[in-house]
Amino acid sequence: MGVKKPVMGIVSFTCDQGCQFAVLFIDNIFDILKKYNVQYFHLLKEKNKKTDFDLVFVEGAITTKREVEKLKEIRKKSKFLVALGACACHGGVPAMRNFIENSDLKKYVYNQKTLKDSVEAAPIDKYVKVDYYLYGCPIIQDEFTAFLDAFLKKKIPEQFKGPVCMECPRRGKPTCFLRQKQPCMGALTRGGCDAICPKENFPCLLCRGPLPKANFTAEAKLFKSWGLSEEEVWNRIHMFHTPENKKNAKKD
Ligand code: SF4
Ligand code: SF4
Ligand code: SF4
Repeated sequence: MGVKKPVMGIVSFTCDQGCQFAVLFIDNIFDILKKYNVQYFHLLKEKNKKTDFDLVFVEGAITTKREVEKLKEIRKKSKFLVALGACACHGGVPAMRNFIENSDLKKYVYNQKTLKDSVEAAPIDKYVKVDYYLYGCPIIQDEFTAFLDAFLKKKIPEQFKGPVCMECPRRGKPTCFLRQKQPCMGALTRGGCDAICPKENFPCLLCRGPLPKANFTAEAKLFKSWGLSEEEVWNRIHMFHTPENKKNAKKD
């Protein structure tokens, strides 16, 4: 008799499903997934079942009461739950809606019933215990495969501890965006992405979320001294992560 494969699923809440696509486009994804009993992955499978999972990946922010209940059901069915991507980890792009009043949102939302059921967009750990986080918008494919490999060996990979700057080739050089008065948030952002954006000539936008002691107030002051408006600064800071309560938005 063969070894029993862990039952695995990827479920999605409010998002563009970009992290699921990132998984789907991993070169050898089918070989990797052969080691798992995949029961739920609707971009890949025709028939999907929300069963008892050994491992479940949850993508997307929580934006309605119905989603809160569904998420809690999935948690009950899952031995190990991983937040997949910035929307699930920090609220991500969907959480920008927290800065817009429901009365104004009516102009943009075509399914008005959804609005009645809506709650402030939030990361999944507002409602359930999360066992591990895979950060980024989208996730880093190598981190996902490393996690799956480790999980089979009953191990959990260590999270990268430092900021994006630690992996950035511009660090301490005149090419550092901050030295050029360009708003890069690498110093406040959880690293582990190999500083992919600064390497491609883009300032870091904080997609892997803030480090525990990130001082946004100081960063905002700096950016404003370079001519960015208050709104530009905070829109940038909150592009991928939003404080739970928008009233605290400028204090986190
Ligand atoms: S984290 Fe980014 S890529 Fe992933 S689902 Fe959210 S918006 Fe899409
Ligand atoms: S991540 Fe940004 S702030 Fe950090 S060293 Fe690189 S360019 Fe400078
Ligand atoms: S450099 Fe910043 S924005 Fe780019 S992937 Fe890394 S954390 Fe995300």
